[in-house]
Amino acid sequence: MMDAKIFFSQELLSWFHIHKRTLPWRQNRDPYRVWVSEIMLQQTRVDTVIPYYERFMARFPTVAALAAAPEEEVLKCWEGLGYYSRARNLQAGAQEVVERYGGVIPDDAEAVAGLKGIGPYTRGAVMSIAFNRAEPAVDGNVMRVLSRYFCLEDDIAKNKTRIQLEKLAVSLIPDGHAGDFNQALMELGALVCTPKSPGCLTCPVMEHCAGRLAGKELVLPIKTKAKPPREERRLAAIVEGSGSQTGKVLVRQRPASGLLARMWELPHVLDGAAGAESKPARGRKRTVRTNRPQEHTDALPEQEVLRMERLGLALAVESRLLARPLAHWMEAEHVFSHIIWKLDIYRCEFGFVLEEEERQRLEHSYEVTARGEMLASEAPSSYTLHRLDGEYPGPEDAGSWAYTGRASGLPDEALTAAAGIATGTWTEVEAEELQEERQQQLPEGYRWISREDMDELAFPNVFLRILNSYWEQQS
Ligand code: SF4
Repeated sequence: MMDAKIFFSQELLSWFHIHKRTLPWRQNRDPYRVWVSEIMLQQTRVDTVIPYYERFMARFPTVAALAAAPEEEVLKCWEGLGYYSRARNLQAGAQEVVERYGGVIPDDAEAVAGLKGIGPYTRGAVMSIAFNRAEPAVDGNVMRVLSRYFCLEDDIAKNKTRIQLEKLAVSLIPDGHAGDFNQALMELGALVCTPKSPGCLTCPVMEHCAGRLAGKELVLPIKTKAKPPREERRLAAIVEGSGSQTGKVLVRQRPASGLLARMWELPHVLDGAAGAESKPARGRKRTVRTNRPQEHTDALPEQEVLRMERLGLALAVESRLLARPLAHWMEAEHVFSHIIWKLDIYRCEFGFVLEEEERQRLEHSYEVTARGEMLASEAPSSYTLHRLDGEYPGPEDAGSWAYTGRASGLPDEALTAAAGIATGTWTEVEAEELQEERQQQLPEGYRWISREDMDELAFPNVFLRILNSYWEQQS
């Protein structure tokens, strides 16, 4: 085994000196540059990272520059790269470096490990590449290479195996060459010992590779499958402004913590009844008039109508937005590690922002769970039982804004609460004035944006795609 280890280290290092790729973060060993690159490279391909890295380093060339930047700018610079908590943690770590270490990343493994967002792998990468310390940097690529070369059949999904492989990796580091050796290991995993088609014939260590000799290069590493991500159906709204907000759409900022914290997005709601309605459509068509009856009349499938109703109601109950879904715009998907959002996006006409009292009356009348989500078991039956036959009222009908309430069986008093303006006591002029006034009183975190405003706000990829397609269509 000893010979195989020495052979591995020497051959790998020699190979790396000849074959290493020229990458922007390899220009020098500045620990800040190494740190940024390693964070960006987590779960992301090198080709994708390069332009982001160059832009990020041009905008935030030092730890101090990153620490002092507004978070919105950092997120904007990261926009499209995904896993946004990495950007927030990186900035928090930079602020710690400024506060605790005067802006200089310390040559101290414990101190580096204590920075926000730095786990065992990043600590090893920064300490070895920037400071040439003999620290292991074991990620998925490295675990694959070591499992194959040493023919190890332990489950690499287990923490215990990772710790064992870290010990093995550190024992392989040639004296004085920690940085190059760790990069060589990563490079071999990325270029030669790839997951599905290892290039054993061109591999510098094939001669002593126990996995290959045992014919197990395609079997190893052993990795138990992670739980598949949970699918979540969501309904999203492109709410279009009117009056002074014509040409704009409504967006909101996510809460300060949790998934996609502080990123901007279109309003969207969990489609609580999605499971219950997944039975095949009955094929019955129902005529739904859009808010611009002179344009066209669409015949929509039953389930589509139900979805639009649910979206309208949920926006009212969850966000105080009385908005009327007009038409399906597109489908989109956003994959997180533990969850997949399946989004159905609807163009919506903006009505009013409900007063809290009105919202509460709606909520009271409508079955919601403790989390403010519709009960899947309740929603479809209540829609079915109470929906009016025939067409939805059009905008010329004073009650058009009440249609969601009416269609889903809300009692008259909730209907009135949801659309006080639509009860017939307002003239058209008064209605427009009230709409204009209430258009300005958005719930906290919401705002109207034009296409140009997108330049300042950071959106997750999925909403970037949706909004860009929307602006394209409008132009
Ligand atoms: S010989 Fe094949 S399996 Fe072994 S390390 Fe090289 S590429 Fe991987």
